[in-house]
Amino acid sequence: SAVFLKYPTEYPVAGEHIEIQSKELNVDLKDNDVLLRNLYFSLDPYMRGRMRNAKSYVPGFQIGEAMSGYGISEVIESTNAAFPVGAIVSGFTGWQEYSVIPGANGLRVLPGARDSPIPLSAHLGVLGMPGLTAYASLKIIGQPKAGETIFVSAAAGAVGQLVGQMAKKLGLRVVGSAGSDDKVDYLINELKFDAAFNYKKNGTILENLKLAAPEGIDIYYENVGGETLEAALEVMNTKGRVIACGMISQYNTQQPYGIRNLSHIVSKRIVMQGFIASDFVGESEAFAKDVGTWLVKKEIIYREDVAEGIEASPEAFVGMLKGKNFGKQVVKIADI
Ligand code: NDP
Repeated sequence: SAVFLKYPTEYPVAGEHIEIQSKELNVDLKDNDVLLRNLYFSLDPYMRGRMRNAKSYVPGFQIGEAMSGYGISEVIESTNAAFPVGAIVSGFTGWQEYSVIPGANGLRVLPGARDSPIPLSAHLGVLGMPGLTAYASLKIIGQPKAGETIFVSAAAGAVGQLVGQMAKKLGLRVVGSAGSDDKVDYLINELKFDAAFNYKKNGTILENLKLAAPEGIDIYYENVGGETLEAALEVMNTKGRVIACGMISQYNTQQPYGIRNLSHIVSKRIVMQGFIASDFVGESEAFAKDVGTWLVKKEIIYREDVAEGIEASPEAFVGMLKGKNFGKQVVKIADI
């Protein structure tokens, strides 16, 4: 298991805050419990928020316990008729090779997963929580209209890639920012963004954004916060929308960033709305149908970054927070 050791104040450090430990698993199943052989699990930015000794919308990690999150697993022992041995399931599991899930709580069978053309790991990314986040928030909060311009930050990441491609399908002009030239190439050449820039290069973020969006922006898909939000508010057009998905630049620092351009919200009548993915469970069916179809028809593509083995998970998590991931970060534990 990858075990949570102590609360970080800045970036977590593999070995200091998260450590791989061998732990005996109690597999004495009670009624309706299942034993899972874990195949993949997801590493997500929100997990940094669970490394705080404070209340949040997801319970924090417990010191001395295995880290947890969404995963894909195979049922290998079961006292629950709805989850027979051999079923492939998704749900909240652990950064572990094996997990016991009391009452199979929160698990969902993925029918046909063994023979599907869609890889299992996609259920953690483009067809999982980040995908639903992108799909529903763009549609419901963004109210996108053909001809408008959208700016997406962390655009090469799990959420950003789908937001950008969906916005293209809807006829918007799409601008993205990312932290490396390779990611910018991917946005332009593979995802067909209209413009993209490396926010670490060639002047300030505001200068880059003005060049990429000379007519201003109508929607800002906010994944980053800080200086990027400030720049987005500056170039935003009247009646613009900010879809406040995340602010990752603020997750690993104790220094609050004072946004300078908040008064634009008043004068430009900007609507800025936050959300958490679970607000959109009602969209799950439409999401699975639409995105599933687009994937099979290859109308959208996605990229993922696969770390191999439980031992690699602490480094991969820290790397994801620092932008070393290229696409959705997952950990592969075992083959199906
Ligand atoms: P990503 O796959 O985008 O990975 C995180 C990326 O953030 C990194 O690759 C890095 O890309 C970028 N990043 C890290 N530090 C900084 C920084 N200081 N400044 C700018 N960019 C930075 O993760 P997700 O797609 O899963 O998540 C993206 C955002 O969406 C996060 O803010 C997350 O918290 C949020 N989110 C919110 C949800 C909700 O329910 N509200 C649900 C899911 C995600 P780069 O190389 O470009 O810097």
